[in-house]
Amino acid sequence: MSRRPLLNRRLDGHGTTIFAEMSALALTTGAINLGQGFPDTDGPEEIREAAVRALRDGKGNQYPPGPGIPELRTAVAGHQQRFYGLAFDPDTEVLVTAGATEAVAASMLALLEPGDEVIAFEPFYDSYAACIAMAGGVRVPLTLRAPDFRPDLDALRDAITPRTRLLLLNSPHNPTGMVLTREELSAIARLAVEHDLLVVTDEVYEHLAFDGDHVPLISLPGMRDRTVSISSAGKTFSYTGWKIGWVTGSAALVTAVRTAKQYLTFVSGGPLQYAVAEALALPDAFFTGFREDLRAKRDLLTDGLAAAGFEVYRPQGTYFVTTDVAPLGEKDGIAFCRALPERAGVVAVPNAVFYDDQEAGRTQVRFAFCKRTAVLEEAVSRLKRPAP
Ligand code: PMP
Ligand code: GLN
Repeated sequence: MSRRPLLNRRLDGHGTTIFAEMSALALTTGAINLGQGFPDTDGPEEIREAAVRALRDGKGNQYPPGPGIPELRTAVAGHQQRFYGLAFDPDTEVLVTAGATEAVAASMLALLEPGDEVIAFEPFYDSYAACIAMAGGVRVPLTLRAPDFRPDLDALRDAITPRTRLLLLNSPHNPTGMVLTREELSAIARLAVEHDLLVVTDEVYEHLAFDGDHVPLISLPGMRDRTVSISSAGKTFSYTGWKIGWVTGSAALVTAVRTAKQYLTFVSGGPLQYAVAEALALPDAFFTGFREDLRAKRDLLTDGLAAAGFEVYRPQGTYFVTTDVAPLGEKDGIAFCRALPERAGVVAVPNAVFYDDQEAGRTQVRFAFCKRTAVLEEAVSRLKRPAP
C-alpha cells in the first residue's frame, strides 16, 4: 500500500462538512437542529403530487436529456422573465443541474485553469473552497465583517490581479444574510467589465430577500455574457433533498458549464424535473407567502436570540441568522456549537469554519430559522434557560 496520503492535496483540509457533522450531532443528542439549512416541513403538496404523477406515468424514469427536460428549461426561462424581465433561450441558455452544488462545481471545473484566482466573499458557503480547490483554482477571500457584512469594494478592487479569472458571488448571502444592493452590484459589475472577469452568482435564496428586492447581477449592463447565474428548487420550494438546480447565462457559458456537468452526473432527478417545472409556474402569491412566512420566522428567532443574550446580526435574506456568542462569555464558536446540543438541546453551526481569516469569525454562530414556529419557540426557550 502506498504511503502517500489517500486523499489528494486539493481536498486536504476539506473533511466532513460542518452540516453533516452538526446534523449527526442533532440525531445522537435529540437536540433541535437549527444547524443545517433544511425546512422541517415539506413544500407544496401539489408539487409532490406532480413528482408522484411523473414517476407513475413513466416521465423521466429513464435518462432525461442532458441539458434538462424541455419543460423545465422553459419554466426556468419563464421564471427569469416573470421575476426579472430577463430573456433566456431555453434551448441554449438554460442548463438543469443536480442542485446548485453541482452547478457551482461544474462552473469551477469548466471555467478555471490551474492557478486561476477566484475572489469570493468569506465566510464562504462550504462547497466553494472545495470546488475551487478541485478545479485547481486559488481562492482569494474578500472578508465580510460584522456587524453589517457589507463588501468592501475598495478591497475588492485591490484583490483583483492579472491572475483573477472570476468572482464567485452569493447574494442573499449564506451564512450572514447580507443582500447586495443594486449600487454594490453595479460597482461589482463595473469592476468585472473593467478587468474582463467572469462572475458566477449563487442565487439560491433569490426569493428570500426580506428588505428590498433581489437583483440578479446578470441583469446589469455588461454582465449578460460574462455571468453564470445559478439557482435551485431546494430552498424556494422546500424540497432540499430533490437536488434540482439550474444555470442561466449566455449560450457560450452554458455550453462550457454543461461540458463539465455531463461528466459529473450527466443527468439527475428525471421525474422531479417535471415537478419543479410546475413549481416554477406557481402563482406570485406562493413566492410572496413563502417570503412572508420566513420573514416572520426570522423575526421570531432574532428577537429570541437577542433576548437570550446573543449579539444578533439581523439578516436581510436567506434561511439564517448569524450571531456573536462573545456577550455570553464565549471565546470560540466551534467549541460553543460542539457543546450546545448537550448543554441546551439546540444545534447551531459555527461560522469560523467558513472563514480563512479565523479571527473574523471566531465567535460567530449561525442559526437556521426555516423551521416550524413551535420548534423555533422551543429552541428559544431552551437557549434562554441558564446553563446547568
Ligand atoms: N449555495 C448556497 C449559498 C446554499 O446555501 C446552498 C444550500 N442550499 C447551496 C448552494 C446548495 O444548493 P443545492 O442544495 O441546490 O445544491
Ligand atoms: N445549504 C445548507 C446550509 O447552509 C446545507 C447544505 C448541505 O448540507 N450541503 O445549511
